Amino acid sequence: MPLNYDLHSHSIASDGTLTAAQLVTRAHAQGVDVLALTDHDVTAGLAEADAMARTLGLRLIPGVEISVTWQSRTIHVLGLNIDPLDPILQQGLAGLRVARERRAQAMGEDLARRGMAGVYNGAKDLARGEIISRTHFAQFLINQGFARNMQRVFKNFLVPDKPGYVPGEWTSLSAAIAWIRGAGGQAVIAHPARYKLNAAGMQWLLKEFKDGGGIGMEVVSGSHSPSDYQAMAGYAKQFGLLASAGSDYHGPENAWLELGALPELPAGCVPVWQDWRI
Ligand code: AMP
Ligand code: MN
Ligand code: MN
Ligand code: MN
Repeated sequence: MPLNYDLHSHSIASDGTLTAAQLVTRAHAQGVDVLALTDHDVTAGLAEADAMARTLGLRLIPGVEISVTWQSRTIHVLGLNIDPLDPILQQGLAGLRVARERRAQAMGEDLARRGMAGVYNGAKDLARGEIISRTHFAQFLINQGFARNMQRVFKNFLVPDKPGYVPGEWTSLSAAIAWIRGAGGQAVIAHPARYKLNAAGMQWLLKEFKDGGGIGMEVVSGSHSPSDYQAMAGYAKQFGLLASAGSDYHGPENAWLELGALPELPAGCVPVWQDWRI
């Protein structure tokens, strides 16, 4: 039996709803052999995840999902097998958390100006870790009855031209790759099909990423469609990038997405884990 890899997931350290220990326990129960915890801009869940992984005999890959601004868009870059104690990485992530806090306050002010007071405080109460994200705002808006579910709230709020939208000011692509490599990790572009790039834009991104020292891209992802798998496999081959697979699991509320339930990589992909000693 090939090992079951799920290399993208979130805990309450960022915008997931399970604790790191609960996440690892669930991954184990779902048959995951190798799990990466990749919280947004924070590594605070890794120690707890690692302790539970050792207890259960699951292999935990220490990871992070770094917020990047590239050509006025937000791109997410995964760092896999990072050393969470690396000081330069931690300094960079701390800066991103400051930018998150600043953006959250501006989002709250924008919503208040439009007659929705108290959303910043409500989102802050829902954030159980060191970062505040749009997910926390979205959950509060749902709890308050402003939207029915996550899909609806990200259609009508918190996105360009809608109430509560404030663009993130994240780090550069080259800095994110450098932090990850400096911490001994591998840089992988998260869910590339989600950025609404045309073919020229995708090639620009992937070339710049590869030239900067990035080594992989998610081909199979919880936020990719089956036709995306094929298209992304083609790009990975074209640019000599390794292929990764991750659910991007945020918690059991999202009933259609489960840990460890990903299809195999398309034929011809070279897995990001090919040289890992598991
Ligand atoms: P942030 O990094 O604070 O801008 O928040 C981005 C997070 O919001 C993502 O990591 C997702 O967890 C969540 N998100 C963004 N768009 C959607 C969507 N359409 N449906 C559900 N969750 C979303
Ligand atoms: Mn998220
Ligand atoms: Mn992401
Ligand atoms: Mn993610």
